[in-house]
Amino acid sequence: MINETETINKARKLLKKSADNQHRLKYYYGPEFFLNKYINEIKSMIIREYVLFIYEEARKISLKHFNNDLNESGLTPSCKKGCSFCCSFPISVLPFESLLIEQYVKDNFSNVQKKELKRNLKNTKNRVIKEVGKIQITKSYKEKYYQKDIKCPFLNESNLCSIYDVRPLSCISYLEFINSSKCQNGNISDSAAAFLDVESAIRTIVRSGIIAYCEYHKLDSKTYLDRYTGASQNDYELLPFSVDVH
Ligand code: SF4
Repeated sequence: MINETETINKARKLLKKSADNQHRLKYYYGPEFFLNKYINEIKSMIIREYVLFIYEEARKISLKHFNNDLNESGLTPSCKKGCSFCCSFPISVLPFESLLIEQYVKDNFSNVQKKELKRNLKNTKNRVIKEVGKIQITKSYKEKYYQKDIKCPFLNESNLCSIYDVRPLSCISYLEFINSSKCQNGNISDSAAAFLDVESAIRTIVRSGIIAYCEYHKLDSKTYLDRYTGASQNDYELLPFSVDVH
């Protein structure tokens, strides 16, 4: 039997510990780290493939720490395969995340699946524009979006994520610890935790890698930082608008 108060307290503690650890990572993986450790990649790759490479590295590092913190907390997420309430939330995705998703779709989807996904992305985009309006990551926007029951275009007919291995950080870092049905109303419950610090740490690590690349090749880093990491919270996009399926 789950003690709700105890679980909520543990979840708050985990959130704090994870935030502290991810904060430390941001400082450890500065531009000098990339210039020292990944100089061969910096030298030989074009920037698009290099961004994908450092994002995958940053994702591994950051998620390893996050999973350690989660294991040590003794908490077990109540999120289960087939539960997909949070897949009707508006999901933010950063430009470098969409590179990874695009690559995954290219490598793993059949032509029929790609066609279907393209249709889903288009339909979802049209529904969002028509029924919810301009994207703003605010509480009322999220509620309005959820009420429209617009499912993520990557959710398949069995209620499973078709890009699970490369799903966006906003999907990975959202966990509920008491009962997944609490997500049913579209709100983040007291016993859920959105580990936004994971997303922010990975974004900072990717930024450091891009700065190192630009330093080496004598390029203006601002252009590439804007293009690949987004300059501010406003540059976050929702899934249907960012992923280009070829
Ligand atoms: S990407 Fe996957 S986990 Fe994330 S909202 Fe879509 S279907 Fe759900």
